[in-house]
Amino acid sequence: MQESVMQRMWNSAHLSGGNAAYVEELYELYLHDPNAVPEEWRNYFQKLPASGVAASDVSHATIRDQFVLLAKNQRNAKPAAAGATSSAHEKKQLEVLRMIQAFRMRGHQAATLDPLGLWRRPIPDDLTVEHYGLTNADLDTTFDIGGHAFVGQSVATLREIYSALQNTYSRNIGAEFTHIVDTEQRKWFQQRLESVQGRPLISAEAKTHLLERLTAAEGLEKYLGTKYPGTKRFGLEGGESLIPLLDEIIQRTGSYGVKEIVIGMAHRGRLNVLVNTFGKNPRELFDEFEGKKTEGLSSGDVKYHQGFSSNVMTSGGEVHLALAFNPSHLEIVSPVVEGSVRARQDRRKDALGEKVLPISLHGDAAFAGQGVVMETFQMSQTRGYKTGGTIHIVINNQVGFTTSRQEDARSTEYCTDVAKMIQAPIFHVNGDDPEAVLFVTQLAVDYRMQFKRDVVIDLVCYRRRGHNEADEPSGTQPLMYQQIAKQISTRELYANALVQDGVITEEEVQNKINDYRNDLDNGHHVVKSLVKEPNKELFVDWRPYLGHVWTAHYDTRVDLKTLQRLADKLLDIPDGLVVQRQVAKILEDRQKMTAGALPINWGYAENLAYATLLNDGHPVRFTGQDVGRGTFSHRHAALHNQKDASVYLPLQHLSIDQPRMDLYDSYLSEEAVLAFEYGYSTTMPNALVVWEAQFGDFANGAQVVFDQFISSGETKWGRLCGLTMLLPHGYEGQGPEHSSARLERYLQLCAEHNMQVCVPTTPAQVYHMLRRQVVRPLRKPLVALTPKSLLRHKLATSTLEDLAEGTFQTVINEIDPVDPKKIERLILCSGKVYYDLLEKRRAAERMDIAIVRIEQLYPFPENDLAEVLSGYKNIKHIVWCQEEPMNQGAWYCSQHHMRRVIAAHKKSLFLEYAGRDGSAAPACGYASMHAEQQAKLLEDAFTV
Ligand code: AMP
Repeated sequence: MQESVMQRMWNSAHLSGGNAAYVEELYELYLHDPNAVPEEWRNYFQKLPASGVAASDVSHATIRDQFVLLAKNQRNAKPAAAGATSSAHEKKQLEVLRMIQAFRMRGHQAATLDPLGLWRRPIPDDLTVEHYGLTNADLDTTFDIGGHAFVGQSVATLREIYSALQNTYSRNIGAEFTHIVDTEQRKWFQQRLESVQGRPLISAEAKTHLLERLTAAEGLEKYLGTKYPGTKRFGLEGGESLIPLLDEIIQRTGSYGVKEIVIGMAHRGRLNVLVNTFGKNPRELFDEFEGKKTEGLSSGDVKYHQGFSSNVMTSGGEVHLALAFNPSHLEIVSPVVEGSVRARQDRRKDALGEKVLPISLHGDAAFAGQGVVMETFQMSQTRGYKTGGTIHIVINNQVGFTTSRQEDARSTEYCTDVAKMIQAPIFHVNGDDPEAVLFVTQLAVDYRMQFKRDVVIDLVCYRRRGHNEADEPSGTQPLMYQQIAKQISTRELYANALVQDGVITEEEVQNKINDYRNDLDNGHHVVKSLVKEPNKELFVDWRPYLGHVWTAHYDTRVDLKTLQRLADKLLDIPDGLVVQRQVAKILEDRQKMTAGALPINWGYAENLAYATLLNDGHPVRFTGQDVGRGTFSHRHAALHNQKDASVYLPLQHLSIDQPRMDLYDSYLSEEAVLAFEYGYSTTMPNALVVWEAQFGDFANGAQVVFDQFISSGETKWGRLCGLTMLLPHGYEGQGPEHSSARLERYLQLCAEHNMQVCVPTTPAQVYHMLRRQVVRPLRKPLVALTPKSLLRHKLATSTLEDLAEGTFQTVINEIDPVDPKKIERLILCSGKVYYDLLEKRRAAERMDIAIVRIEQLYPFPENDLAEVLSGYKNIKHIVWCQEEPMNQGAWYCSQHHMRRVIAAHKKSLFLEYAGRDGSAAPACGYASMHAEQQAKLLEDAFTV
């Protein structure tokens, strides 16, 4: 059938004779890019699969194969003879189309991107006319370029075409967009670039504004350089175009209706952005140079890590700007920014990302080198993490100071190649051409706002002063710094050009420099669009959460009736939802638990905690690996319909006016995902934000987030964070991986009440712990070691009354009816080992031993433990029992707290240790060895 259709077309007059090879090649070109062939042919090819064959039934490859076969047959049958002249022209015509394609794909390789002129690349062969068999004699021949916009006509001479191609694709902008699969997007770029040959007309006013911004950028660095010579400031010199670039993004997105912008950047150029983009008062910056402390922060941070917030006016109204605080660990701030943006979008119900925009600034070396960049790109279009596209800016000063040679810095052609993994368009632009920078910025903004996807601007520039101002870079970069010494600044180059074009006079140029310097001298704000009385409704009011002293105890009760009502809602499954057999059994059991016929288990208590928080008006966001079901199949907060694979979240159906409940199984990342949730929770204080690791030890892939943000963000930057992390932990013979969540690491990070480390052992405890995290106005990160086997342990249960009446207990006293006076040995422990000890004690009927659980290891509940100990007057032995090896777990980090309490209770008591010996690995790999070790540590607890 298909063959006859093809045959019919082939036989048509249009395709016969000497045209065969031409058409064949034209068709190849069309398959690659429909827009590459003249319109008449495009229309023709578009109709190909029709005529009796459904388009969906015929792959392009099939058609092409048949077409090529037919073309060959045709050629063999009828060698071209007649019309040789027209055939030669057609061949050239085809070559011209090929050349156009080559420029679109590889024109960037011939672009003049490096302001220093040192980055020389061979011009690809296929960007020359000779490569296509064309000669000088063809320059004035006209060719049909119907589908192409750049000469504004459907025919043009080769000379015009080649010049337009060079202007568009190989001047100071190198555009990479042909890797985008979506034809509409590729066409969009082609049209935007080709219609103005890569350089739109810019008004005199816009040019003067560009110069004013460059003057500000250069002026600040010069001022700081003179006032504080030799002080590290990681200046922007060489990359001054960044300031007009940011200005354009803010103003243009503002005109689109964007209301908030969150920016993440490393230290390079940060002070410049703070003063010239955010409008930070220069005087405040000078105070920081002079070492002034920020009130209320016990650590504080260096000035080039500081965040900032301000509001600026745009043609679309007031826009709130937030610069994220960041550590020196490059790139890790990017996912934090995404999380903060998503929180703002969720708050505004901005599902498409039209109101809040993320901007991520990168250095070239880090962008190419750090894995978190890839993780952040990977999240960019996923349901749980997308933010409607990020504008990425690489301050590409062509050196990272980790290695001197570029070939040692990366294996990719550009530092931006990683962005191609999500088909992001990439614009390389020469930083010394501010108008080109302006144009790519406009393209980037328009693309992001229209297609809601990431886009990258690679601002190719240089670092005038090396790694920092105290550094002498020419030792390792001799040629680059010889050139930089001669390099006229971006501002001066542009000012000269504007003077030459008569846009501005030399005197006006000088006035701009003087005015800026005077503003700095007088400590004036230098951002004209800064709003002095910002509209506070554009951001969250954190006042209810500020200034609370640490408290462990809080009323987290919910009355029984409300609990039952919410439980009924959770179990009210819509008609037509068919759950899997085991899940149905779990739901049936939950019915019984609500009725009091079964004790409450862990998974149900957790679900009830979320339901009650939602009922109290707190949004809940829960993400992590396989969290809907729960790694150990205990949670089932997401129900999968066996009929059509749709997913139902009962927690989203408690009432019509309930707050947001978001639950997302995350992609396989820890670092970027946890950083994202940190950003989210530091922006959404009224929400419970939970991240769960599949196994607790996977969180070590996110260690930088714990170290640099979660544990220290409050004392460094005054940023509160209520993020909850659930880390499954417990020694169950599964080997060195998955046994330990590395409790010791978190405890070692604890000081100054910076975070909470809890090990809850009952469903009621996890319920009250989660509720306390949000109901209490204090915001502190919570690391919770959660169980695996305890999820189904017959003793690890609670009652509905425990949820209704109880509270989170930092210490749980002995639960069996022992006589305190007869207790001679007290065992202290945390976590799952408690149940092993309890069963052993019950089996041995040792009524002289009491077991006390410490459920919160930090802030260590010294008073609560003292109170429990006070009931045991006759103890002779006290022992800390843990499953972890001696060098791990709580032993080293928490014993001083216990010893202090014990010494105050009875001087003669000495805290003994019962646990595994010190070990390099967290656990052994053999089940029999595990069982032996476990039996021994329990026995030790009873005997040492
Ligand atoms: P932003 O929207 O991030 O610019 O924040 C607006 C204002 O809210 C900031 O200037 C801070 O005063 C305050 N704020 C934002 N985030 C936090 C936080 N995590 N902890 C305490 N205050 C915050």
